[in-house]
Amino acid sequence: MFEKIREVVEQHYQQDKESLEQCYPGLNKTIYLREALSFIGSKADEHQIIDSLSEYKLKQFFELSADGVPFEYISGMGHFYGRDFIVGPGVLIPRQETEIIIEEVLLAKSRFTSTMKVLDLCTGSGCLGLTVACELREIVSDLYLTDICEEALRYAAKNCAKFEFQLSPMTKIKLVKSNLLDSVDDKFDLIVSNPPYIKRKEHHSRVHGQVTRFEPDMALFVDDDEYDKFFDRLFRGVSEVLRDGGLFIMEGHEDEIKPLANKWKASFPKDEVKVIQDLSSRDRFIRVIKEGKNG
Ligand code: GLN
Repeated sequence: MFEKIREVVEQHYQQDKESLEQCYPGLNKTIYLREALSFIGSKADEHQIIDSLSEYKLKQFFELSADGVPFEYISGMGHFYGRDFIVGPGVLIPRQETEIIIEEVLLAKSRFTSTMKVLDLCTGSGCLGLTVACELREIVSDLYLTDICEEALRYAAKNCAKFEFQLSPMTKIKLVKSNLLDSVDDKFDLIVSNPPYIKRKEHHSRVHGQVTRFEPDMALFVDDDEYDKFFDRLFRGVSEVLRDGGLFIMEGHEDEIKPLANKWKASFPKDEVKVIQDLSSRDRFIRVIKEGKNG
């Protein structure tokens, strides 16, 4: 029997439609086919007749997707700001909304006239810091990627190698294992961060089961009663290593970002603090410009 890849994938999708759509928010037949083809390999074509290799790969794909494994972990790639980052279990999958941080950095480009030092705090796959460095090229003299988790830093290192040729040869990169700012002792002109910000108890019911089941707990959650202390430490640390006139942009939870912006204002009243919304008008980001000396 000569079956085409497309027919086999569509048949499988039809059979498992209900459970697949429960696992993968927003899934449809076209997306499923695209993911299956990308897993089989770059040369795969939906009209191709199934051969033994594509049959073997499809079987693997069906098994992993039946288990609800995120497509980014199945393919090993997560898309961010026009680039594919290497990801896998143990590192957070880049999210589209986080791209707003990159847009904010690019909007502020005129502030960065000479060489600048950039820190991506809680870097995960490295998607934020590496994207900034790929976009701003030779303006970036130093890029620090820090994370508390060694597994995450291994992915960040792989992505440094992957994007080596898109980065300026002038940019020096440092990967640092650090609990927040504890092991960082330099000064920066730009700090970007997507730290863990979901309250383990209070916000838990709004997190999709696929996220909690597969993505690293440490990259997502902060204990409810540690939340204040965690951001106090993070903010104090950031303020210490941010140069006067420097920019700090951080992603956060829609229920928490305003109180966090107020926390920053209360601690460092001379800084300019702005809350930025995502595409669905939810408060999701803080942007701080550090002005002069505080206190
Ligand atoms: N900075 C990475 C991202 O935006 C990882 C964030 C994290 O691990 N909390 O995807």
